[in-house]
Amino acid sequence: MDYQKIFADALAALKQERRYRVFTELGRIQGRFPRAINHSRPGQPEVTIWCSNDYLGMGQNPEILEAMKTAIDRHGAGAGGTRNISGTNHPLALLERELADLHRKEAALVFTSGYISNEASLSTIGKLLPNVVIFSDSLNHASMIEGIRHSGRERRIFRHNDVAHLEELLRAEDPARPKLIAFESVYSMDGDIAPIGAICDLAERYGAMTYLDEVHAVGMYGPRGAGVAERDGVMQRLDVIEGTLGKAFGVMGGYITASAAIVDAVRSYASSFIFTTALPPTIAAGAAASIRFLREHDELRQRHQERAARLKRLLAEAALPVMPSVSHIVPVMVGDAGLCKAASDMLLDEYAIYIQPINYPTVPRGTERLRITPTPLHDDAEMAHLVHSLTEVWRRLGLRRAAA
Ligand SMILES: *Cc1c(COP(=O)(O)O)cnc(C)c1O
Repeated sequence: MDYQKIFADALAALKQERRYRVFTELGRIQGRFPRAINHSRPGQPEVTIWCSNDYLGMGQNPEILEAMKTAIDRHGAGAGGTRNISGTNHPLALLERELADLHRKEAALVFTSGYISNEASLSTIGKLLPNVVIFSDSLNHASMIEGIRHSGRERRIFRHNDVAHLEELLRAEDPARPKLIAFESVYSMDGDIAPIGAICDLAERYGAMTYLDEVHAVGMYGPRGAGVAERDGVMQRLDVIEGTLGKAFGVMGGYITASAAIVDAVRSYASSFIFTTALPPTIAAGAAASIRFLREHDELRQRHQERAARLKRLLAEAALPVMPSVSHIVPVMVGDAGLCKAASDMLLDEYAIYIQPINYPTVPRGTERLRITPTPLHDDAEMAHLVHSLTEVWRRLGLRRAAA
């Protein structure tokens, strides 16, 4: 048996479909966000990152760095074990209290990543609810899909953000059967936002529990940065809110917040929570500092929205096919995997702009795109350079423009 050939063939298939992923090795320059050194190219040129999920530049916020340095001086490097065996450190417990308070829930539970928090929580909640049927938005993240799969329960997929379709599916079930609706607030590839209040209305009418992934909203929406549910005034109507500490909060880790009973049940039953080393004190202290900082700095959120709105307007004026996003995400449609990669390479090599191509299976085939994430730290000059460069690349590659 030629085992090596099996792996080589699998890779060749990806390359054939033009969706083999190439990582760009960057060194982010502390103090000069969003600039980075590109270690993937000879001469290691400096580039501007335009696709970071460190949406607010918090990964370089001095208060966070200070909190992390203090935690390392006080507690050292690692956590020392799983939460059960010696890993529950004081900064982690403080972080969980901070998160529960942020979302105004009874309790919170921190995981090593947002992915794990979805996988662990959805699978455990699904298993604990007898004969539950899970209603899942068609564009839910891979980590939610895996969690639902691992619950072993039946699921119904509703069309993306389609409340009428969700109601149709809910109505078709036995009213006595337990139900769980799992969805996201900001969908990060299109930049659209779920009708959270309307979904909560349905949940009430049909006796369903709700599980909301606010990964692309926490830190960025709501007056205290608790997410879109806070902005919309519906936070208390959701049973479980899940988030990450790795995107706008700028550090790492994931969490859920919910009632004390739900959080304690997931803590007690979820294998991928129980049998893994806890986040270290440094990370927990940095994340807590970030949450506290963003609670108090709504002007950063306003500047973020202003930057995104400005970029969308500039792209539209340049007849570049910016997609109709209502959030801070600015996707520009290419519609072809090979061209999307070519555009990304050209931007990086000739214009010192880093924007990762987004290809299948992250988005459907034929909708390959460049996903731009302007931050409060991208200034007008950088934005002008970006729009000029994209215009050049669109012309040189003969890409589709927006309808005039
Ligand atoms: C990135 C992402 C996650 C996973 O969060 P990590 O902290 O990066 O593991 C979960 N849900 C959605 C919608 C995401 O985009």
